[in-house]
Amino acid sequence: MDAIAASQVLSEIGYLLRQDPEEKFRAKAFSAAAWSLAVERPDLEALHGSNELTTLEGVGAGIAKVLAEVVETGHSRYLDRLREQMKQPARNDESVLDFAQYKGDVHSHSTWSDGKATMLEMARGAEAMGYTYLGVTDHSPRIKVVNGLDANRLLAQSLEMAEVQAQVPGVALLQGIEVDILEDGSLDLPDMVLELLDVVIASPHVKLRQEPAAMTERMLRAVSHPHVDVIGHPTGRRPGSREGANYDFEAVFKEAARHQVALEIDCDPARMDLSPEMARVALDLGCNFSMDADAHAPAEFAYVPMGMWMARRAGIPQDRILNFLPLDELTMALE
Ligand SMILES: [Zn+2]
Ligand SMILES: [Zn+2]
Repeated sequence: MDAIAASQVLSEIGYLLRQDPEEKFRAKAFSAAAWSLAVERPDLEALHGSNELTTLEGVGAGIAKVLAEVVETGHSRYLDRLREQMKQPARNDESVLDFAQYKGDVHSHSTWSDGKATMLEMARGAEAMGYTYLGVTDHSPRIKVVNGLDANRLLAQSLEMAEVQAQVPGVALLQGIEVDILEDGSLDLPDMVLELLDVVIASPHVKLRQEPAAMTERMLRAVSHPHVDVIGHPTGRRPGSREGANYDFEAVFKEAARHQVALEIDCDPARMDLSPEMARVALDLGCNFSMDADAHAPAEFAYVPMGMWMARRAGIPQDRILNFLPLDELTMALE
């Protein structure tokens, strides 16, 4: 079993453990080990053969034991047990997804807002992942603490983007925004600005605890907006620490499908939003998906390969996931 497949096993274990408050630290340890496998992609067979799995970052004796079984059998009985306990048993309609076929990621941040790396560093990171495109989607102005971008700063950013594009020609940079969905469902930038951007991700960040009827109206308005391409982390949840927004999911997902607005599976282990369970509901209602790292640093691009198990568990086929589209088809889908 390769490192990415193994990292997905550890990531799912971390996800299931997160649902039990008493397992919070163990959950984080599994997610961290999963991340390090997805970043480093070590030769697990060789390390296991020489009894060196514990030399991997974040892999202590307990996790090494789980990993050893995965390397030997391609399987984890510990994961099976957790699935049973959490009433999420394996299903026979999971999909097969191959990360090697994956073309890019449309949701990322840079130092233009709250990212920790420059646009150039992020573009090089995407290149190292083998991506052919990257959406640079910094925040909109509403969130002051992250130095969100207004029209003037977006214009300045486009100039830097042209320079970065010349230095990293193999990765098509898409200029976008992660625009806030305001309390009434309107967006945090004028339409005339949004229409100029390559990709618009609309995300709920504040007032997530609005009562469900108002939250439903808010989300319905956002998915119906003509310039919105993707709804970012659709519930805003933080598994194990913050419940996400509650709204009429079926109504909103149906409307998203009708407007061909994709729903994000944000693969940041702190979010995992949509959850695999909710993603399955959205799949049945006809939605498309975007698997995103929501990376704030180059190493975080590895969240997608480690988190792909979510789409697999939800049974989402490759042709319903934007990131598998080649650039020309993606551009058409984002029009
Ligand atoms: Zn966000
Ligand atoms: Zn984001």
